[in-house]
Order: sequence, then structure tokens, then C-alpha cells
Amino acid sequence: MLQGAVRLLQRFYGYPSFRKGQEPIIENLIRKQDTLGVLPTGGGKSICYQIPALLSEGTTLVISPLISLMKDQVDALESMGIPSAYINSSLSSAETNDRLRKAANGAYKLLYIAPERLDTGSFSYLMESMYVPLIAIDEAHCISQWGHDFRPSYLNIVSFIRKFEERPVVAAFTATATPEVIQDIAEALSLKDHNVFVNGFSRENLSFSVIKGADRRDFITRYLSEHPEASGIIYAATRKEVDDLHTFLNRKGISAGKYHAGLDESERCAMQERFLFDDIRVMVATNAFGMGIDKSNVRFVIHHNMPKNMEAYYQEAGRAGRDGEESECILLYSSQDTQLQKFLIEQGELSDERKAMEYKKLKSMVDYCHTGRCLQNYIVRYFGEENDDTCSKCSNCTDETKMTDMTEEAQKIFSCIRRMRERFGVSLVAKVLKGSRDKRILELRFDELPTYGLFSRLPEKEISAMINYLAAEGYLIMDGGQYPVVKLTQRAAEVLAGREQVSRRAVKVTSAQHAEPN
Ligand code: ADP
Repeated sequence: MLQGAVRLLQRFYGYPSFRKGQEPIIENLIRKQDTLGVLPTGGGKSICYQIPALLSEGTTLVISPLISLMKDQVDALESMGIPSAYINSSLSSAETNDRLRKAANGAYKLLYIAPERLDTGSFSYLMESMYVPLIAIDEAHCISQWGHDFRPSYLNIVSFIRKFEERPVVAAFTATATPEVIQDIAEALSLKDHNVFVNGFSRENLSFSVIKGADRRDFITRYLSEHPEASGIIYAATRKEVDDLHTFLNRKGISAGKYHAGLDESERCAMQERFLFDDIRVMVATNAFGMGIDKSNVRFVIHHNMPKNMEAYYQEAGRAGRDGEESECILLYSSQDTQLQKFLIEQGELSDERKAMEYKKLKSMVDYCHTGRCLQNYIVRYFGEENDDTCSKCSNCTDETKMTDMTEEAQKIFSCIRRMRERFGVSLVAKVLKGSRDKRILELRFDELPTYGLFSRLPEKEISAMINYLAAEGYLIMDGGQYPVVKLTQRAAEVLAGREQVSRRAVKVTSAQHAEPN
């Protein structure tokens, strides 16, 4: 079935075969089934609709929100001799009309358009008179109100498709979709379950690390001096942090650029170009940087702060190693990042339902920072892929510190939480175990609990870290939004009953991981 498709792949693109994740999607589209392909950034989504487009009569429409990417794609197709064009707001009306006229005459195999274009009556009229076998929807998560990048214009796609006398096959793609988002897209486009392909989320050439409690600037300076040739991105949470870090690196003689929404457009463009052409080696940026950036030799992506959720993290980290070469994705975690993200959720004008969802996503992000499991595996499972493979190179897989038994500590923690009637957050539980004289503790008479002061010798931070670890491993749940309450799960009950053991890696302090000043 795929033979013709493979021939086109070899002839036009020069690649010998499809990737594992591409095959079922292309096969399904050739069978004229509507399809949702969930593939990671760099996974090769374009080929998934371009090849079926080449195998069909007529003009395939590609709906994409990324203006810069459209031009790149069209340039690439044209260089392969595939007639194609794009229509978006960067064109003059004369140019637009010229392309529309050519499109009406069937001059293009692929036509890229921005979703806003669908609103214009003349455009949908023209489309009705053309033969459109396939509509590809890029960044399909924009259709979901649960996605991180909802775009109202995407909602018009559904009514636009209905206008065709002969309904085109629909091929939707996204790199970042949780089960909720997938369901939303599938519902909006009336897709059946068996036409949804979640695949290839693991990126074998990426090594993930979470570094806790490091002095971030020390870490970054050391990393950059140990990798003097490597080009990479450092994401920071705020514009101010980007400015400060950028100044700091330049003072250290490191060729770094910066990028955030506070810079004017020409400055941003210039920085981006210089980074793309390796004129600067490191880009310090907020999350405004990167949508649609296709720089293949990004060797590392360091997160100076924890992002708001796994979707954002994987999308940003996934900009490393698009050329398939070994690359690193490092997250520098501090518990203050969680506070900042909670603050941002509270600041946003969100409905209660939406807020609860954002907190849930944040929780999974925090769990990523605390888990002892393979990080690559944690990520692919988060994105709904059933997979037990471990990567053998993330900071957890390569951690040689011995697993130590912490069943007794866990039992003490669970017992304390239960005695506090599962009504308080991590920090208060930690304070009780520490034996703090905090006013609130005395008021609530928690100093009379038998678990009070059981960990008096440990720093409070370490007690909190243990509780967070137990939550990441599924023994505890954090219930509620801004001030979550720690509760026990069934697994914790098993541990209390002596039926399950808990183990943890001994806390490791290396020279790069000095304690972070509070
Ligand atoms: P994305 O999923 O991010 O849109 P692209 O479609 O831009 O990814 O593809 C990422 C890179 O992978 C491109 O350089 C593309 O040419 C390459 N690629 C895609 N499919 C294959 C394949 N079957 N074999 C080898 N390289 C491929």
C-alpha cells in the first residue's frame, strides 16, 4: 500500500524510508480516512500530508498559523519542483489575488493558508470551485480551548470543511496534545478513535536532566565552558530574568543574544537571524522564542526556570537536536518556580474549570521534577503513549546513587498527614514533622501530635522534598488549586499497612549543585 508513497519519498525528499510514526498516518490518509497525527516537534509531520497530497489529484490545502513556517515550507517544496504557494497577511492584495487566480486554475499541488483567511467569503467561494482532496490542519491543538494556544479562527475550520460539496479528507497534526486535547480535536473534527495516531513521542537523541538546588548561574557558566562549541537556547521565565542573564553571560564573554516580547520587532528579527546563522551561540529567551524556529543544530536547551506545564516544556526542550544528533535538555528546578507558576495562574482571568485544569497540568510538571523514573518515559506516558522503554541516559537512568529504603520515613509522613486529617499543604506537614514552633501549628495544637518533631534533625526543605517525591511517585495527591492539600492514596495505605516498600535515591550533592540561597 505504501509502495507508491515510498517511491515519492525517495524521489522528492531523498529519504530511504518513512519513520515509524509516519507510516500509519500516511497509510490511513491514502485510505481516505480522516486522521489525527500526534507527533513530536521534528517528528516529520509535513511529509505525512505532503506525500498524500502528491498522490492525489487537485490542490491540498494546508491550514497553518505560522506565517514564517509557511514560507519555509513553500520554498522547500518549490526547490523540489512541487508547485505550491502560500496566502497570508504578509502579501499585498495584488499578490493575494494573483495567487488566488492561479489556485483557481489548479496551478498548485499544495496551498498554505492562515486560518483567518477562511473567514473571507471570496476565499471560501473560490475553494468551493476547486478540487480539494485533502485539508491538512497544522498545530491542530489551536482548535481546543484546553490547548495552550487556543485560536478562535480555528473554530471556523469545521464550518469551512462543511461547505465543500465533496468533503475533503481531513488530516490534523499536533506536537503537543494531552488526552483531553486529543479528545477535543477529535470531537471538533468528528474523528473516530481508531483514526488517532499518537506516536513517536520519544526522541532518542535527547538526554533529559532535572537539576535541583543548583546555583543556576554557576551551572550555566560551567555548562557553557564545558561545551564551548555548542549552540543552544536558555529559557527563562520573565523578561527581566532574560535581560539579567543575557547581561551576565555577555560580561563573561559568552556570545549570547536575547529574545522576548518586550523587544521591538526589528530587534527580535535581528537576534533570531543571528542565532539561526550561528553568529551568536546562545539565545536567552522567554517562551516567546521558538514557535516555528527550525534551527537544526541546537545542541542544548536549558530551562533556567520550570515552565508551566509538560506541553510547554516538551515543545521548548524539543527544539534541541532536530538534526537527530545527540543533544541535551536540562531543567534547573527550584521550588520557587512552582510559586511563580501558581501566581501566574491566579493572575490570569480564567474560569474556575480552566484554573483547575492549569493546576492539574502544573502538578504533572512538578512531578516531572521530582520523579525517580526515567524522564523520557515520564514524558511519553504523559502524552498518552503506552510505553515501558527507559532511555538509559536521562539524569534518573544514569543516576548511580543507590536506591535507599525510605519505607519508615514514608510511614511517618503518611501518619502525620493522616493525623492532620488530610487538610493541609506540604509546607505545614513539613513544619509539623520538623517540630516547628510556628504560631499556626501551636494554634492548631499540632505540637501535641505524636508525629510532631519526628524529623527534627532534617532541614525543612528536605522534608518537603521527600513529601514531593512521594507525591510524584503516586503515594500522595495534591488536592486543590493554589494551596493544595496533601492527601493519601491507596498506595500510601498499603505502605502504612506494611504491604508495600518505598525506595528513593540518596540525595546527591555534586560540586555543580551547591545549595541555592533562599
Ligand atoms: P515537524 O513534525 O516538526 O513539522 P518536519 O516535518 O519539519 O517536522 O520534519 C523534521 C525534519 O525531519 C525535517 O528535516 C524532515 O526533512 C526530516 N524528515 C521527515 N521525515 C523523514 C524521514 N522519513 N526520513 C528522514 N528524515 C525525515
